[in-house]
Amino acid sequence: MVFIFLGILVYFLPAINGYTRKHPKRDLILLVDLLLGWSLIGWLIALIWSYSGPNYSKVKIIKCPHCGGDIEASYTTCKHCGKSTEELQPYVPGQ
Ligand SMILES: [Zn+2]
Repeated sequence: MVFIFLGILVYFLPAINGYTRKHPKRDLILLVDLLLGWSLIGWLIALIWSYSGPNYSKVKIIKCPHCGGDIEASYTTCKHCGKSTEELQPYVPGQ
């Protein structure tokens, strides 16, 4: 029983990782994992994909004052409308 449980856990590792890291494409990662995870290549792609990009569970997300889109607090320019968001940030760590 334990081995079946562990097998399922490993099979869904890419999806679990995607969800814990709040990956923006976590639903697609789950789909790839679910449909192609049985082939080692599909599972690897899903795993690498789930590790791509920043860890959104640790990244501070703010709303753009111009367009209302979600952007990382460390960005100084909105990725949606391209306008500066610096007036929102009294303190940026590491700058
Ligand atoms: Zn914007």
